[in-house]
Amino acid sequence: MTYREALRAGRTHLLEAGVPDADLDAWYLLEFIRKRAGLPGDRTWFLMNDREEMPDSEAKDYRELLDRRAERIPLQHLTGEQEFMGLSFLVTPEVLVPRQDTEILAEEALSRLKPGMAVLDMCTGSGCIIVSLARLCPGIRAAASDLSSGALAVARENAKRLDTAVSFFQGDLFEEVEGLYDVIVSNPPYIPTDDISGLMDEVRLHEPVMALDGQADGLYFYRRLAKESRDFLKPGGCLLLEIGYDQGDAVKNLLEEAGFCNVCVKKDLAGLDRVVAAENRGCLA
Ligand code: GLN
Repeated sequence: MTYREALRAGRTHLLEAGVPDADLDAWYLLEFIRKRAGLPGDRTWFLMNDREEMPDSEAKDYRELLDRRAERIPLQHLTGEQEFMGLSFLVTPEVLVPRQDTEILAEEALSRLKPGMAVLDMCTGSGCIIVSLARLCPGIRAAASDLSSGALAVARENAKRLDTAVSFFQGDLFEEVEGLYDVIVSNPPYIPTDDISGLMDEVRLHEPVMALDGQADGLYFYRRLAKESRDFLKPGGCLLLEIGYDQGDAVKNLLEEAGFCNVCVKKDLAGLDRVVAAENRGCLA
């Protein structure tokens, strides 16, 4: 079988299994097995060599990966990585796969950070947010917390691979956190429990429920963050939260009730509410 035939068969296999983005994923997996073997495997190589015979060992590896993807295992669990803010992050089933939507939160944090400032990432998961901030704004003091030891191991590895210094705390939200911060960012679990069974198989069956589940109304962590974060924010410091598209008003109200000022909701590129920003001005009612 030639590479071109292998790719076509791969696409068909994934399409028949109902995999979203079957075309792209068939391509990414082919590229992945080539690169893993230390061989050229980008688009240019493919266009110039797609009529070549694919060696049996590569064909076997490719088929195995396609079979696993057809079982709806996320692409990133097979390749072990996901790009976020232009950086490559290690991903395992212990962490939420970094989402492109979350780059809005990271950009919002970057627009407020200056060297010398302290930033905390609450519910850090893979560490994609805090490690990106530390890379893209050198000179900040970066810290992160998560309850899951498995997630923290991945976040630590990402900090190391991307050559950043991040202090990690393990605990239930602020339980073990030390210090005062200029900026606290968080992309907490925010899916209402009953909605999880309706998510796509990749998410529902393979991503950590703990990273998704925001309890009955999805707002559990926002309620706690609104109450508990102020003790860790400097006066004038800000809290930046990723939210679900329909949670803007509810989260804005929670933050205003907790005494935050200048609470505003920011939209993502699709025009949907995505981030809530709030300031700690010490204006408690
Ligand atoms: N902070 C991580 C991310 O945005 C993990 C978020 C989570 O586990 N809810 O990808």
